[in-house]
Amino acid sequence: MSETRHAEIAGAGFAGLASAIALKQRGWSVRVHESSPELRAFGAGIYIWDNGLHVLDSLDAYQQVLNGAFAAPAYETRTNGVRLSYQRINQPGYRRLLTMTRQHLYEAMLDSARRHGIEIVTRSEVVAADPEGRLKVADGRWFEADLVIGADGVKSKVRDSLDIPLERQRYHDGLTRVLAPRGPLKGGDWDNVIDFWHKGEDGRTLRILYTPCSEDTLYMAMMAGLDDHEAAAIPVNPAPWVEAFPGLRPALESLGDRGRYDLYEKTVLKEWAIGKVAVVGDSAHAMPPTLAQGAGCAMMNALGLAVAMEESDTVEEGLALWQQRERPLTDHTQGRAAELAASRELAHGMSWSDTDMRAAGHLPTGTSAAFSA
Ligand SMILES: Cc1cc2nc3c(=O)[nH]c(=O)nc-3n(C[C@H](O)[C@H](O)[C@H](O)COP(=O)(O)OP(=O)(O)OC[C@H]3O[C@@H](n4cnc5c(N)ncnc54)[C@H](O)[C@@H]3O)c2cc1C
Repeated sequence: MSETRHAEIAGAGFAGLASAIALKQRGWSVRVHESSPELRAFGAGIYIWDNGLHVLDSLDAYQQVLNGAFAAPAYETRTNGVRLSYQRINQPGYRRLLTMTRQHLYEAMLDSARRHGIEIVTRSEVVAADPEGRLKVADGRWFEADLVIGADGVKSKVRDSLDIPLERQRYHDGLTRVLAPRGPLKGGDWDNVIDFWHKGEDGRTLRILYTPCSEDTLYMAMMAGLDDHEAAAIPVNPAPWVEAFPGLRPALESLGDRGRYDLYEKTVLKEWAIGKVAVVGDSAHAMPPTLAQGAGCAMMNALGLAVAMEESDTVEEGLALWQQRERPLTDHTQGRAAELAASRELAHGMSWSDTDMRAAGHLPTGTSAAFSA
């Protein structure tokens, strides 16, 4: 096709920005609608494995991500004070996993979007899409496109307007995510990612995924069951956490009113596309964060979508190719993440099996094996 094709995208999150950049790089014009008044990520950290780093490289955002992200030398699991697994990372011959604040990742992607001249409209809430290739915003206007993308997150209005069968599952566990100053928690083992578990004699299970995400900033993902009102409370009540993890006291007592609790959730959409509309990211396949691959898969699928469009004569053919090529890995990853969430099996140590690491070790469509920064 010679004339410029146009995409309207709902959501300027990781999936929406990745879709926009990847399409723009392939000659499309794109407009992104974001319902929030500001373009920013909320205050938490994020893990990006090798697959996501490859995508960021292809989106021209990797170097900025690298500058200010954290490369821990090891990933360990300690349950009731006993080290159960220890794996080197970010060293020659080992897996790559960068940790960073969400805002750091978001800014790198946003800056790339701006360099590519992408139009992002804030305070533009999308309320529906139609398979003919139209997107509707809250003030009643319709925008026409060759391709419409619903990248509007787990509560997607685009998805819900399309009448595609959806299975939704919520889990018993959730995570409070917070950023804190690292303070004295620096150097030696404190530079590792440490998955701390506490299994009390009273049956209580708590977990803190301790994550340095820059020289000065610590990210803690604090798992508690929804019915553990004391530990799942926001603002964080430090008492039960300090009792379970006394070594983290300095960070736990510095939290103030920060933190946000989200339950683990999984959504499975029967089809990721209908007509000229694609559903990308959490709107299509939210998953429990046990493998830290939600954003990784979202970005892989966004890039894979643009590549499939480039390889196909029509949007419909491209969408079919996209689903056929990208969906099996996401389904596998989502399924395994859900098993780990239901079983709390990570308390026995992180498995580095090919099954669990399939997405992390995957070379995404549209990326180059030559990249190894
Ligand atoms: C506790 C937890 C920890 C996680 N940790 C990791 C991790 O370490 N690594 C990882 O890879 N993944 C992780 N994830 C998953 C990751 O956060 C998501 O998969 C990722 O954010 C999905 O990106 P998205 O762009 O699809 O959705 P979102 O990030 O939700 O972005 C959606 C965007 O759309 C906007 N929007 C919403 N509705 C509308 C509308 N109607 N109109 C216009 N705009 C709209 C929103 O404001 C937002 O900007 C975690 C998830 C959870 C819950």
